[in-house]
Amino acid sequence: MHEFRYIRNELYCENLKVEDIARKFDTPLYIYSYKTILDHFLKLKKAFRSIAPLICFSVKSNSNLSIIRTLVRHGAGLDVVSGGELFLALKAGCPPRRIVYASVGKTAREIRKAIRLGILFLNVESLPELQNIDRIAKILNKRIRVAIRINPDVSPETHRFITTGKITNKFGVDFEVAYNILRHSHEFSNVDILGLHIHIGSQITESSPFIKAIARVTQFIERLRKEKIRLEYFNIGGGLGIVYDKETPQTAFDFASRVLPILKKTKLRIILEPGRFIVGNAGIFVVRVLYLKHAGRKKFVIVDGAMNDLIRPALYGAYHDILPLKRQWDSGSDNMTEARNRREAIRVARYDVVGPICESSDFFAKGRVLPMLKQGDYLAIMGAGAYGFSMSSNYNSRLRPAEVMIMKNRAFLIRKRETYRDLIRNELIVDYK
Ligand code: PLP
Repeated sequence: MHEFRYIRNELYCENLKVEDIARKFDTPLYIYSYKTILDHFLKLKKAFRSIAPLICFSVKSNSNLSIIRTLVRHGAGLDVVSGGELFLALKAGCPPRRIVYASVGKTAREIRKAIRLGILFLNVESLPELQNIDRIAKILNKRIRVAIRINPDVSPETHRFITTGKITNKFGVDFEVAYNILRHSHEFSNVDILGLHIHIGSQITESSPFIKAIARVTQFIERLRKEKIRLEYFNIGGGLGIVYDKETPQTAFDFASRVLPILKKTKLRIILEPGRFIVGNAGIFVVRVLYLKHAGRKKFVIVDGAMNDLIRPALYGAYHDILPLKRQWDSGSDNMTEARNRREAIRVARYDVVGPICESSDFFAKGRVLPMLKQGDYLAIMGAGAYGFSMSSNYNSRLRPAEVMIMKNRAFLIRKRETYRDLIRNELIVDYK
């Protein structure tokens, strides 16, 4: 559920009309609902209440400081994957003991920083990385907690670019490598190997791959226990899928009720790393129609947002629902699904919704049935809260958009629109003399 709905044929975010927000802050524009973000976080927290896990929001999904600070203030930890995200986590006021850090390629500088801060876990993805962490901790004369990221070799039904738990993926180590590391943990004198970590992929709508992966790790934990290898934490990663189109993902409650019995058996403290589940449907990307163009039978609607702002359709062929901010018909109901089903009743056309970038992959939708559009119309690209702004770039020297947070009937600018000055901030013009 989310807080974007039609009221009298106008799209609202919480208590504000989206078109008013778009006019005030200009387009292209990211708009988030505060209530939706918090509701999703609290839903997960409630579903897992019986084991009180540490829920580490995955910063990569949306790294806006105001968003991560809100979650941290409500008790979330953070999952980071770079020195930059670690910096943001601290800026957002996250206590280091609530930060977990995964990445297959942490640099010595990043490792040093994490050790100095004393974060909860460095999630280790290879033996050479563990050796490097131990070496650096020794030099710093510090100890650091480490979790081994296991690649449980399961293949969830999701886009191949976002599976991470198959043995052919670059992430984690297999059970035998993990076992050997744990058996020889005494050889790593400045490292406390206290956790296991998995993350099998993203946008996974069923619980079976999670159960398969968790069950494999649980068996492994049993094996370790028999050998008196002591662990404290099990991090089950993120990956919970959301509705973009017609998916029927498990709810937080369904997910919890299926995995809790297995997790409880481990007797370990549990960490979750959700990203998309919390922010995905809490954000929209609003664009404005610049031109309509007909080429043969094809109709293009060219909007002011582009793949540099929201790359998911270009990168994964991802589907995003696209809604006009002003509906042209009175459905007699503000229910989104009913509204969608009634599209046949109005004048529609099949459009490719594209941006101004010089790439044919610069599209938000292809052959999408939408109400007849005209120049100046606003469109909302739904489900843009996760891997939207955080994957944006300046490609084509486009300015990255502003971000606005809606809380009831107030709109807060949480990131300014970039200016041309931002484009050249780090450039040095050299004379080559
Ligand atoms: N944890 C790790 C290690 C990840 O790589 C990711 C995403 O790729 C996440 C958590 C968050 O995944 P999601 O946004 O699907 O919940």
